Amino acid sequence: MSDSSEYDSDDLAEDFEGLAVDNSPPRKYKCGVCKEVGDHFINDCPTAAETGQRTPYQGKRRCFGQYQCSSCLRLWVSSRSWANTQQACQDCKVYVYPHRQRPLYKPQGMDDVCDLDKNHQQQLCRRCHRLGHSCVQ
Ligand SMILES: [Zn+2]
Ligand SMILES: [Zn+2]
Ligand SMILES: [Zn+2]
Repeated sequence: MSDSSEYDSDDLAEDFEGLAVDNSPPRKYKCGVCKEVGDHFINDCPTAAETGQRTPYQGKRRCFGQYQCSSCLRLWVSSRSWANTQQACQDCKVYVYPHRQRPLYKPQGMDDVCDLDKNHQQQLCRRCHRLGHSCVQ
């Protein structure tokens, strides 16, 4: 669908974001807002659209988030996850909301995930965009 300009700009990704994605999520995918399983990606959640609650977590803190690309189904986790804030799939540049979030202060065996912090890609993080610098100093 993209010409040859995968890395062109974030604007491009935003354009794609509006396009309807036909593929439904994996059967085990659980929308973190309405808790429906295997029905829709959290990006497409009708409840979220109504309430404006786009992510499971609605606080002000940073937390762990689990994301799944609605295009290539790639899964990733980030310990720089924020309420109502998307991150982009590094392959497709599709922005998605985290369908699972959990507090940072209760890692529950996700310690190893912290290492991903070093690889936090600001160009894929909406919060970094907004701040104009890395979302965690
Ligand atoms: Zn939902
Ligand atoms: Zn992807
Ligand atoms: Zn960030």
